[in-house]
Amino acid sequence: MNVSRTGQKTGEASDDLGAIFRRLIRNTGPISLTQYMGESNARYYASRDPLGLAGDFVTAPEISQMFGELIGLWLADIWISSGRPENVHYVELGPGRGTLAKDALRAMKRYGLQPAVHFVEGSSALREVQQKAVPDVRWHNDLSTLPPDDPLLFVGNEFLDALPIRQMAKTPNGWREREIALQDDAFIFAAGGRPMDAAVPEEWRGAEDGTILETSPAQAAVMYELAGRLSDQGGAALLFDYGHAALHAGSTLQAVKDHRKVDPLAMPGSADLTALVEFGTLARIAQSRDVRWIGTAEQGAWLRRLGIDARTQSLAKAAPHHADDLRAARDRLVEPGQMGALFKVMGLSGLHWDGGAGFD
Ligand code: SAH
Repeated sequence: MNVSRTGQKTGEASDDLGAIFRRLIRNTGPISLTQYMGESNARYYASRDPLGLAGDFVTAPEISQMFGELIGLWLADIWISSGRPENVHYVELGPGRGTLAKDALRAMKRYGLQPAVHFVEGSSALREVQQKAVPDVRWHNDLSTLPPDDPLLFVGNEFLDALPIRQMAKTPNGWREREIALQDDAFIFAAGGRPMDAAVPEEWRGAEDGTILETSPAQAAVMYELAGRLSDQGGAALLFDYGHAALHAGSTLQAVKDHRKVDPLAMPGSADLTALVEFGTLARIAQSRDVRWIGTAEQGAWLRRLGIDARTQSLAKAAPHHADDLRAARDRLVEPGQMGALFKVMGLSGLHWDGGAGFD
């Protein structure tokens, strides 16, 4: 059981959220993990730019321009081999500082692809940062307001992992939702009051006590909408995240602050809450909507098939004093012990679009 104290400091936005949760729980009982994570991350991202060394965590596009460039190359390639459809739109989900978009758009332009740019972004603090990187952009709170007719090229990096999850735990009384309760002033995990065995896949029902299963209705909803758009309008999608290829037991909820893992219940709204993405379920949801699931690959293998090694060499040749940094960045993105194997990329395309490169 995860017990942590919070609310010791005063005057921070996070304390307000902790206080709101405490009041809510005292008045109406435990809250779901989904609600806790959704509210915490909305608060967390609204108030800051968490990316980079000065922030809380570093992402692939912030490590090297090669990441965004190779994504741009992939998009240009699938667009060309699909017959260069007109009026395509680039849509990035949770674009952070706008770095990936900037690098990808520069690469696409070299191949004659200059799509209109749309960002799905909830944070006004990050929208300000994104405006500087990509001045000509339209923002959306979710996918519902995206253009309804033209082909869409979706990209997301570490977007899905920030969406709220639900957890079920096997208890001596059967499967229960994992909820957030209070013990004195500290948030703790507690088993919900209602039997949830029916919500658990049959093969997991008899698992031993203490087993935890995660799902994310929010990720599923995004995938359903995105795949529906590809099916109706054409286009393609590349979704990068750390995750598993199939359903695993165990909690993957984690909180990161100042580049360190912290207790997920210690400071709601002040640490980044994420969970591993389960790509198997997302692929099945996508395929239920008449799109092509191109595949799910390890990020390192995919980047190598797209030519990251040659790109590293040519950049190093052009700027020899940066050669060591470039090779270190390449290793960080590609090597299995770093981001290369835990991070995956899932590719999708409309049925009238080509299959895309790198997923063999
Ligand atoms: N893709 C960027 C940033 C990853 S951080 C990168 O790789 O550097 C997660 C991003 O998703 C942030 O831009 C955050 O504001 C956004 N985000 C998180 N939850 C969101 C939600 N529910 N709706 C819209 N954007 C969200």
